[in-house]
Amino acid sequence: MKIHEYQGKEILSRYGVAVPKAIMAETVEDAVKAAEEIGGEVWVVKAQIHAGGRGKGGGVKLSKGLEAVRENAAQILGMQLVTHQTGPAGQEVKKVLIEEGMDIREELYLSMLVDRESQSVVILASTEGGMDIEEVAAKTPGKILRETIDPTVGVLGFQALRLARGLRVAQVDPKLVRPMSAMIGSLYRAFIAEDCSLLEINPLVLTNDLRVVALDAKVTFDDNALFRHQTTLELRDLDEEEPLEIEASQADLSYIKLDGDIGCMVNGAGLAMATMDIIKLYGGEPANFLDVGGSATKERVTTAFKLILSDSNVEGILVNIFGGIMRCDVIAEGVVSAAREVSLNVPLVVRLEGTNVELGKKILDQSGLPIVSADDLGDAAEKVVKEVKEAA
Ligand code: ADP
Ligand code: MG
Repeated sequence: MKIHEYQGKEILSRYGVAVPKAIMAETVEDAVKAAEEIGGEVWVVKAQIHAGGRGKGGGVKLSKGLEAVRENAAQILGMQLVTHQTGPAGQEVKKVLIEEGMDIREELYLSMLVDRESQSVVILASTEGGMDIEEVAAKTPGKILRETIDPTVGVLGFQALRLARGLRVAQVDPKLVRPMSAMIGSLYRAFIAEDCSLLEINPLVLTNDLRVVALDAKVTFDDNALFRHQTTLELRDLDEEEPLEIEASQADLSYIKLDGDIGCMVNGAGLAMATMDIIKLYGGEPANFLDVGGSATKERVTTAFKLILSDSNVEGILVNIFGGIMRCDVIAEGVVSAAREVSLNVPLVVRLEGTNVELGKKILDQSGLPIVSADDLGDAAEKVVKEVKEAA
């Protein structure tokens, strides 16, 4: 689950993380009042959406004077903000954060995430803050520092110091080393206590008055632990979430909308990933990731099918099921009943394998629906890509 920058900073500050003075506003009037209350002469008006790259998209504006705050808030509130993380349609801005303008000396990068390989939290840091970290990682991977944190002891002093050294903090001023170590410790404590899956501070800044301040905050929570964080759940902003993904999570389906046109219904996350890869291999683009799970019922398959079809980009569907715990006949029944209910009007390719596969195929054949059946994964992907191209 994602939250807004302003919410993330509120949480982090409870753990001793220094953040700029800031107030969230939903109207231009409130934005100006917020700036007055914060005081000073320079503010930053920041669009609050669940996506990064807001600055580049025009969603973060330095404002000198209250009139500038008014103008920028008027411009940003209600805008359709497009960033590399929102997709081409963008996201409507309904809230802005009015923040004191900081006197920045250096913009650094710091993040924490769960690394499955080492089964630990890993801290990533870089002197190249404020910019696209993916680009830094791709072009100059040597500029990314990495510390693996032993979960039984937490961040050790030498690890924080090693990060501070790698970030060249002492070169700016030796007085900054101690607050930097403290910052890393506080962020880690917040990460663990709040059950985060990602904590990204980009930029983490060194200011001219020798402070270490989190200027941006991306906080993502581990959904599996949300049950023990009732107050976190209250921070959920449904306006920011993909409506289809909300519907899917209510039906207990793992669904992620993507930009392509081939809808996929698969059981098992690994098989879903492989299916998406192979669609791409044959020149197609998946419209979604969808894992119906190992023990899906006919009703769940029907819901999943409807979900795929309610995405207007979908031009064809590939059902790829390996019936282990899940029986192929149940899947087939779900597919047939859903296809009937929604009056399917795009090509449908089905590949079934496993328990009761013959029965499943028979149900599909006898349904009278124009279903193309496939023998294996490669065959299925090739067929659906071809069908979609021909239909176009
Ligand atoms: P995003 O990552 O979505 O573009 P950020 O919060 O990182 O948004 O802001 C983008 C840039 O704007 C920062 O890298 C920083 O240079 C500047 N900025 C953001 N907040 C402030 C602030 N309070 N004071 C001064 N500059 C800021
Ligand atoms: Mg940022």
